[in-house]
Amino acid sequence: MPVTSEITRVVGRVRGERPGPTLIVVGGIHGNEPGGVIAARRVLARIDAERIPIRGELLCLAGNVGALREKKRYLARDLNRLWTPDRVGLLPANGSPTNGSGDPEATEQRELSAAIEEALANARGEAYLVDLHTTSAEGIPFALIGDTLRHREFASHFPLPVILGLEEQVDGILVEHMTHRGCVTLVVEGGQHQNPVSWEHLEAVLWLALAAAGNATAEAIADHHRHYAQLERARGSLPRVMEVTFRHPVGPADQFRMMPGFANIARVRRHQLLARDRRGEIRAPSDGMVFLPLYQPQGDDGFFLGRGVSGLRMQASAVARRLRLDRLLPLLPGVRRDPERRDRLDVDTEIARLYPMDVFHLFGYRKVRQRGAHLEVARRPHDPE
Ligand SMILES: [Zn+2]
Repeated sequence: MPVTSEITRVVGRVRGERPGPTLIVVGGIHGNEPGGVIAARRVLARIDAERIPIRGELLCLAGNVGALREKKRYLARDLNRLWTPDRVGLLPANGSPTNGSGDPEATEQRELSAAIEEALANARGEAYLVDLHTTSAEGIPFALIGDTLRHREFASHFPLPVILGLEEQVDGILVEHMTHRGCVTLVVEGGQHQNPVSWEHLEAVLWLALAAAGNATAEAIADHHRHYAQLERARGSLPRVMEVTFRHPVGPADQFRMMPGFANIARVRRHQLLARDRRGEIRAPSDGMVFLPLYQPQGDDGFFLGRGVSGLRMQASAVARRLRLDRLLPLLPGVRRDPERRDRLDVDTEIARLYPMDVFHLFGYRKVRQRGAHLEVARRPHDPE
């Protein structure tokens, strides 16, 4: 069956008789990334053929149906940048089509949101959302998570490299919204868009997700081991956890061109030539990693830079959070907690210029936005206590 044949919003659904978690899978929120839909179809077909018992519910959705049919990242606007609180607030509660105006992605967002909300309303346990992507560059599969202990725990069931702080670099992505709706979320980048190996990686991720969420036992999934081993092999010698320290944004006028040959995660040396734009050369400021180099015409992230995070630092931050040491952050001069939103800090950069961002990263504050002389530093809603 051709990849894009008969793409519909609901790729498939299995609602088990026994209550349990709800696992929502979204594939193709970028329409040039059919791998997530392909992987979901394969998993659904096997669950059906082998009568694998499912607890709770598995719901597989196509993200941007119109763009998937056209094989484009999006038609008018990136559907994975529209999930800001302002826009989501305008979505009709019941998902019914409103007056028909708006661009194609506004319709996609309404329908996708309605399908997700229906699943949440019928959930009989915890809700998980796995958002499946592929990249323009070749490379190994990896996961992105919001930096909370709940998310780290779910991600630990997948032998993928995990990048912290990448999600928080961009506003309006689906998983940010879903985290605020109480879901545990995971974004996976499976590899290059059209490489069938990427689709196999995404399929492996879905089998592991069913077991990690608790929809099926690992024993009921005959080749759970093989899927785990496949992803572990793909990781090779990369660090298990990495973090983003820098985003290079690009606009259409920049004439941004990434240098050829970077994989979706690659080690770089200080001063290495990364890209060119109309201002000239763009070089790495330090040794580290480059993530998600842009090799396609549509997109506004040129690349991200980051570094490995040691197991020790991961443990230290988990301990610090369990002890709720973040309560001390507002005692630092120039740091104030937002009175309305406790997961947000206001940092006066006149006073607090010298704090290393590591202090905030330790507690999961990875979303940093400059607002005049102030920094707004935010994190995903805090872990349940
Ligand atoms: Zn994508």
